[in-house]
Amino acid sequence: MASQRTGSQPRRAANQIRGAPPPSRPKPVRTPTLRTTQTGRGMGLTIGVDVGGTKVAAGVVDETGQIVEKLKRDTPAAHPENTIEVIAGAVNELQARHDVGAVGIGAAGFVDETRSMVLFAPNLAWRDEPVKKLVEERIGRPVVVENDANAAAWAEAKLGAARGQEHVLLITVGTGIGAGIVLDGRLYRGRFGMAGEPGHYRVVPDGRLCGCGNCGCWEQYASGSALVAEARDFARRSPEAATRLLELGGGRPDGIDGPAVTRAAREGDVGAVRCFEIVGSWLGAGLADLAAILDPGCFVIGGGVSEAGDLLLGPARTAYQNGLTGRSHRHLADVRLAELGPDAGLIGAADLARYS
Ligand SMILES: [Zn+2]
Repeated sequence: MASQRTGSQPRRAANQIRGAPPPSRPKPVRTPTLRTTQTGRGMGLTIGVDVGGTKVAAGVVDETGQIVEKLKRDTPAAHPENTIEVIAGAVNELQARHDVGAVGIGAAGFVDETRSMVLFAPNLAWRDEPVKKLVEERIGRPVVVENDANAAAWAEAKLGAARGQEHVLLITVGTGIGAGIVLDGRLYRGRFGMAGEPGHYRVVPDGRLCGCGNCGCWEQYASGSALVAEARDFARRSPEAATRLLELGGGRPDGIDGPAVTRAAREGDVGAVRCFEIVGSWLGAGLADLAAILDPGCFVIGGGVSEAGDLLLGPARTAYQNGLTGRSHRHLADVRLAELGPDAGLIGAADLARYS
């Protein structure tokens, strides 16, 4: 939170700060408009593309979020231009069999506020890549580009676990933490398209070193990586109490992975259940902090670790409720499991393509 300015300090307008670039004029807020076909009707089918570090998945999706046909291709991640060709090839193959109106592309990375350019995608070697223009040239249809977690949040809010709700936060708990924000029924991207990265919200001053270079980020405590780290640490410190975890890890603490922790916990292994309690509690505490800022009606929890269900969500709900400011005097948001699974990003990108 910003500190209060005291009356004795000189006032200086934001655009007078020495060394800071002059701010660009904010664009007026655009209201999304439903695209129509040449006959004036809404689009029946659109294509969603999910561009990951190893696979490109492209699917034809109808207005209810059902996938009619889906293709998968390997991602030539080291070659940005080849990735564009793979996307366009998959879309053109689907277009040959289906009458589609537009294409949405979801990618793990920073997407600019005009939804045209991928500024930085750590797994794809895309740097300031004009993805919209390059793909449109090759497929002859309108394209929108969106961050993959934003696309997944849109899908869960409109067609999945939180359908009917207008204030929704999707939190994906995988190796790290991803998120997407829907407010007032619209995807919230922020001024520069960068909103929705709470995984790097710092929850422990000078805490664990994060891959982003900062210390104490939420995803160092509430992600799948944190779950595995807890289990390995437990097995190192108390091998006699961690026999099942060690067995599933091939006898070595470093052999224990996420599915092993989930499996042991499902079997009732006390140590594995405790690992979920620790990580789930960090997750829930972070949800309470997010509620203090955004006050959503529903948190949707997705990602690989969420497949453990109530092992994760039980402690998360408890910590969320205990950490919520003014908890006796306010409504509690639902904390629900995601419904659309790994296809959420593809489905959301396809639906977002319906709007210009
Ligand atoms: Zn970080």
